[in-house]
Amino acid sequence: MSKKIILTGDRPTGKLHLGHFVGSLRERINIQNSNDYDEMYIMIADAQALTDNADNPNKIRENIIEVALDYLSVGLNPEKVTLFIQSQVPELTELTFFYMNLVTVSRLERNPTVKSEIKLRNFNTSIPVGFWTYPISQAADITAFKANVIPVGEDQLPMIEQAREIVRSFNSTYKCKVLVEPKAVLPDNEVCLRLPGIDGKAKMSKSLGNCIYLSDSTEEVRKKVMSMYTDPNHIKIDDPGQIEGNTVFIYLDAFCTDEHFSKYLPEYKNLDELKAHYDRGGLGDVKIKKFLFNVLEEILTPIRERRKIYENKIEEVYNILEQGSLKARAKASITLKEVKDAMKINYFDDKELIKSHIEKYKNKGE
Ligand code: ATP
Ligand code: MG
Repeated sequence: MSKKIILTGDRPTGKLHLGHFVGSLRERINIQNSNDYDEMYIMIADAQALTDNADNPNKIRENIIEVALDYLSVGLNPEKVTLFIQSQVPELTELTFFYMNLVTVSRLERNPTVKSEIKLRNFNTSIPVGFWTYPISQAADITAFKANVIPVGEDQLPMIEQAREIVRSFNSTYKCKVLVEPKAVLPDNEVCLRLPGIDGKAKMSKSLGNCIYLSDSTEEVRKKVMSMYTDPNHIKIDDPGQIEGNTVFIYLDAFCTDEHFSKYLPEYKNLDELKAHYDRGGLGDVKIKKFLFNVLEEILTPIRERRKIYENKIEEVYNILEQGSLKARAKASITLKEVKDAMKINYFDDKELIKSHIEKYKNKGE
């Protein structure tokens, strides 16, 4: 049986939000708590974040601690998982450089996630090379740890595919089995593949400013939920309402359980009943929003409480990241050595090479 090794991470471009929670964090916690894995690495991708924030290193620097606090507050346990900072593992950069030789320009141009991110950032013709090639660096992050299980949101599928191609190309070019093909693990629940923003836009994203953050206060969550995009044609309570594309219902699909109904809205047994009522008319937005607020508060309250504890132990949090980075580095350097051996760029360790060159020039001087 091969080992189950997990790697995943987040860009420190802001605090983590509900999209991260349903898209990836929740699955990480499940795996951690199931104990059904051999190694788990969780990376704060500061080097990747710099690829489109080169002029604002302070933003990245300030958000590393925020992401670390979010990790600890959702329940990631540093005794069971390795939390580390990408830039502190220079082996990853070296791997990226070697992998670049195995990827063509046209292959990079076909990556749909990068394409839409370029549009979103209005890069036009001035795309930073580092940003454009970040799928290659992501392949380095994954393969350095020989990770085979990658819990991510849907937007990351093209990155995992690119990583798999690099693995195949490397192993066949250098006739070895050094690298391991990763597999994405997506959320089971379809709405969690890409949670929309509170404005109804396709994706809740730090860059779009349409997020409910894990660290938002009760009042902030209440305000955001009450302002959420619903059905613009549902004006009077008696009007029939539309479920499809209604952000409140999408969030209820992502977060609520039957127990939430018995606790906060006992006149309905489950979400199907609530949807049916909304659909036929007579159910107002305020009521469904209040229910969603209660559901989210139940999830967010323990996260907020744990965050408070760690906010008072910042030095310890930095220590966790430092120790994690050292551990990650030790593992990545083993893979890097294997990669270099396979590529035959291990000149000083290769006694045969040196001997053969001695032979080659032995009789030359006579
Ligand atoms: P940025 O705007 O800086 O790219 P982001 O909000 O897209 O930030 P990332 O750090 O790029 O967040 O993503 C981290 C992880 O969270 C990835 O696995 C990604 O798929 C997942 N994720 C992010 N947003 C969502 C979302 N709205 N729904 C589901 N998963 C998400
Ligand atoms: Mg992103």
